[in-house]
Amino acid sequence: MRLTPEQQDEVAAQRGEARPTRRATVPALEEILYEPLPVLDHGFIRVIDYMGEDAAIVQAARVSYGRGTRRVSEDQGLINYLMRHRHTTPFEMCEIKYHVKLPIFVARQWIRHRTANVNEYSARYSILDNEFYVPAPEHLAAQATTNRQGREEVLEGAAAQRVLDLLRRDAERAYAGYAELLNEDATGTPIDPALPGLARELARINLTLGFYTQWYWKTDLHNLMHFLSLRADPHAQYEIRAYAEAMLATLARWVPMTHAAFLEYRMNAALMSAKGLAVVRRLLAGETVMLPPRVARADGGARAAGAVTEPMLRRLPSRRHRRRVRFRASRESRPPHHLIILVGYRHEPNFGHSLGRQAQALHRLPCVLRDAPKSALSMRDRGVSSF
Ligand SMILES: Cc1cc2nc3c(=O)[nH]c(=O)nc-3n(C[C@H](O)[C@H](O)[C@H](O)COP(=O)(O)OP(=O)(O)OC[C@H]3O[C@@H](n4cnc5c(N)ncnc54)[C@H](O)[C@@H]3O)c2cc1C
Repeated sequence: MRLTPEQQDEVAAQRGEARPTRRATVPALEEILYEPLPVLDHGFIRVIDYMGEDAAIVQAARVSYGRGTRRVSEDQGLINYLMRHRHTTPFEMCEIKYHVKLPIFVARQWIRHRTANVNEYSARYSILDNEFYVPAPEHLAAQATTNRQGREEVLEGAAAQRVLDLLRRDAERAYAGYAELLNEDATGTPIDPALPGLARELARINLTLGFYTQWYWKTDLHNLMHFLSLRADPHAQYEIRAYAEAMLATLARWVPMTHAAFLEYRMNAALMSAKGLAVVRRLLAGETVMLPPRVARADGGARAAGAVTEPMLRRLPSRRHRRRVRFRASRESRPPHHLIILVGYRHEPNFGHSLGRQAQALHRLPCVLRDAPKSALSMRDRGVSSF
């Protein structure tokens, strides 16, 4: 449950009130002020308050006496300029305050952003709701093999059901234990009047990271964009990204010009290394640029290139060997340009050759097969050795 009927009444009452003000307001943001915007299964974000708008950025940049606004195109041009040149302080003139309901594991990532003011729901003072996050089936994915901070294929059928059942069962058991320690049922009535309830600050310690917490989170526009650039990015974990994307939509309502500049110069832009830039310059000048060959380990590289399949791995003599090959494979996420295969598989001498042939056939990769010198094979590596 996101909001109780009483909480919904409170929100409606607040939304029903309007106060005359000389301060700048933004009609598109006023429309959703206080309203919970759903995120994940039980979470939400609500905009509680804000200060400033696009014109306030322009006003601050020009240090003007009036509103500072000229023509819309000029204002957009100035905001673009500020964003492009990382002239950030005018964006700090705007502030926004959110009320967020989020799973504890998301809160742990979120709280790393230090440039905000936070006040969290106190589970020392109040009782946490019986609400925990269970991923939607389409987000229930297996551990990525190429990125240790990521997910890969979506689980299906019995495998997915097993995970969902386990998550629910553990969370329900944890909450039942919490209620028992507090010695209170959902209505606040003692479960066993003869027993004292444990202090709330202690009763909570067995709850899992999937339980929901809440906070008020206030930050300025510059730091909000920094947060969004990291957390609305595809590299961020899906769950925090879901919040960042909802906040990005509030940014579009609040400061549409800044939002457009942010997408153009930050979110959808790319930072290039000096070497990368030099290559682009040479390409633009019409040169053909040969990139230095990326030489990959035979096992990892070949697997990243799609050449090492699970059936091939199963042919390796032990679990330790399979683990080592998988581990190396996980460190090679890009297909290599060249493969150098050291053939040193004591138990499976043809394995290296067959890897090479398959990689070659699949990807037409230049491929060199070499016998492993004895020195390359330490005792530990004798089973599987390659580079
Ligand atoms: C995809 C991803 C993976 C991550 N993985 C991990 C992980 O494995 N382990 C982990 O611990 N964290 C991890 N983080 C968290 C990350 O390292 C940062 O702590 C987090 O993103 C907050 O960034 P920030 O410090 O820039 O933000 P903020 O705290 O909001 O700071 C904003 C900016 O203010 C400045 N600033 C703030 N405080 C200071 C200070 N004390 N000193 C100097 N400058 C300061 C910095 O310029 C900073 O960039 C990950 C983050 C992302 C997005």
